[in-house]
Amino acid sequence: MENDNKNNNNYKSNKPSKDNRPSFPKRAVITGGMPYGNKQLHFGHVGGVFVFADTYARFLRDRIGKDNVIFVSGTDCYGSPIAESYRKLKESGEFDGTIEDFVRKNHESQEKTLRDYDISLDLFGASALDEPAKIHNVVSDKFIRRLYENGQLEKITTSQFYDEKAGVFLNGRQVIGKCPVLGCQSEKGYADECDLGHQYMPSSLIDPKSTLTGETPVMRDVVNWYFRLTEYTKLLGEYVDRIKKMPNVRSLVSKTIGEFLEPPVVHIKKELREDYEKIKDLLAHHTLTDDPKKPSFTICFDTLDERDAATEIMAHHGLRFRTGKTLVPFRLTGNIEWGVKAPDLEDEKGLTVWVWPESLWAPISFTCAYLKSKGIDMEHYKDYWCSKDSQVYQFIGSDNIYFYGVAEMAMFMALKKGEITSDPEDGEMQLPILVANNHILFLDKKASSSGSIKPPMAADLLNYYTAEQLRMHWLGLGLGTRSVSFQPKPYNPDAKPEDNDPVVKEGFLLSNVFNRAIRSCFYYAQKYFDGKMPVGTPDADVIAECEKAILEYERYMYKFEFHQVTYVLDSLVRKSSKVWSKLSREADAADDNELRKKTLINVFHYIRTAALLLHPLAPEGTEMLREYLGFGEDFWSWDHVFEGMDYFCKGESEHQLKFLEPRVDFFKKHPSQLAGSEEN
Ligand SMILES: [Zn+2]
Repeated sequence: MENDNKNNNNYKSNKPSKDNRPSFPKRAVITGGMPYGNKQLHFGHVGGVFVFADTYARFLRDRIGKDNVIFVSGTDCYGSPIAESYRKLKESGEFDGTIEDFVRKNHESQEKTLRDYDISLDLFGASALDEPAKIHNVVSDKFIRRLYENGQLEKITTSQFYDEKAGVFLNGRQVIGKCPVLGCQSEKGYADECDLGHQYMPSSLIDPKSTLTGETPVMRDVVNWYFRLTEYTKLLGEYVDRIKKMPNVRSLVSKTIGEFLEPPVVHIKKELREDYEKIKDLLAHHTLTDDPKKPSFTICFDTLDERDAATEIMAHHGLRFRTGKTLVPFRLTGNIEWGVKAPDLEDEKGLTVWVWPESLWAPISFTCAYLKSKGIDMEHYKDYWCSKDSQVYQFIGSDNIYFYGVAEMAMFMALKKGEITSDPEDGEMQLPILVANNHILFLDKKASSSGSIKPPMAADLLNYYTAEQLRMHWLGLGLGTRSVSFQPKPYNPDAKPEDNDPVVKEGFLLSNVFNRAIRSCFYYAQKYFDGKMPVGTPDADVIAECEKAILEYERYMYKFEFHQVTYVLDSLVRKSSKVWSKLSREADAADDNELRKKTLINVFHYIRTAALLLHPLAPEGTEMLREYLGFGEDFWSWDHVFEGMDYFCKGESEHQLKFLEPRVDFFKKHPSQLAGSEEN
């Protein structure tokens, strides 16, 4: 399916050529997720999401113009895990200050780490801090009111544990008791599931205790606003059909969203068939399928409400089951104090917005905050979010496809007044393109801060590697196609001293091969041409090869195939080095300055092309090169992507380069890597 380009308007065949190129929007917003504000960033935030978002934002700035791209993200400040972390640190005396101070400290640490990795955000906001928070409060209010006015919200009453001594509602892990499922010995029963994965209604938990006070909590009814997500099966189905045909949407996205569009089913292990038969007449009408190849049989209900009632009965009778994915009402509000205030609608007052939905529209708030900071009317956010000339690209981890791909897409459709469609017209909120990466594992394990192997903090990795080395390595991992393990040698207990560090492979291509080719050209120009770059037209085969690389690269970027992008660059950089060796040897053997001139013109054309394509991936080294070349920022503009050095010399017959001292590096190694390696 991924290769089905028939319905793609952007290009016609798989063969890239100058008149068969993908098209890009006039304007774009890039988002990089919302890191949670209870700690600093671990390597997965940067290496699994931000580096990709940043590379794409930088590419689009070069490709469609800097002023047409807005790259935003921010700290997700609210919710019970933050309130809990803060409460515990405060209690143990490890933190002194307000909850806002706590979040600000983490936000500032996150912002510094992102800066250290050259993540070029136009705005890194925080949902609870400063001007972006004020704007976010207004946007949240408007967003929910619009859904309400459009009839897209419903009130649902549920039972929740309430600690009368502390005077607060308790969420998931703030309650602990004994699992009510027959025969289960677990002492770790939380509000609605035990640590062995049994699910039950909160009211059936045995001997519940509040973790805050140790008191027995009571059950209280709570009323919350929910988005009517169950009504979006058809519209989301149309949306999935559309994105399946788009070459720039990964099949992981359409497949995962599609899984939630199934009817409400329950899976029961086959050995429990007799138990099921005893109670099946108590359940609402359902159909049973028994696939001999599967360990469970499946019962399918007509409605979600009937399934919910049935699971309550099954839980009551101790029948173990697993519910299948399906659309359920999407909760928008809650009663946690630390949250964005929800609008008072009907009799429901004093609620706050649940942190997940609010983080989905936070990038809109941050776009407004960015425009305001530039002195632009905030209403212009519509040029970016509500225009067919614009595209929003959201870089996320695959675990979040439900929130961004199901809940967000349906809510964005629902903002429209009148008839709701799966492809809202120009002027209405448009549907973003999701770029979902698979998991980045750490030493072959799924990284988790609670697991036995702690994933490294992003900031700590910079004690061993340069930001550019890590950027290049992560981009080359191919996370778009599968989960891949990050294996840094300094952290790997199984690595032998003689083993190569896999993390520096891509970076060394730049710090060894590309550095050498660039330096050689500069020193050659200094030796034979008085520090000037000769100007002229490169050989036809060199021009053709560079053009081909540009076109291939553009198409891979269009499809977010970053690892393929790094392969294109690998070949181009190696070619520049090879051509340098061959031509300079011939020129020196003949001691012929015309041949030397030709050598520089040809190799500088490779360097020009490789640098331009490398600019979004390795901004620091390429910017340093531009400085030594003495060209302006339009050197990076794709308006002149096929032009060579002669174009930027603007009629000069030779071009003065900045003097390059011996052993200067454009692409640097980390100080810890310098011992011995320089001589190789
Ligand atoms: Zn249990």
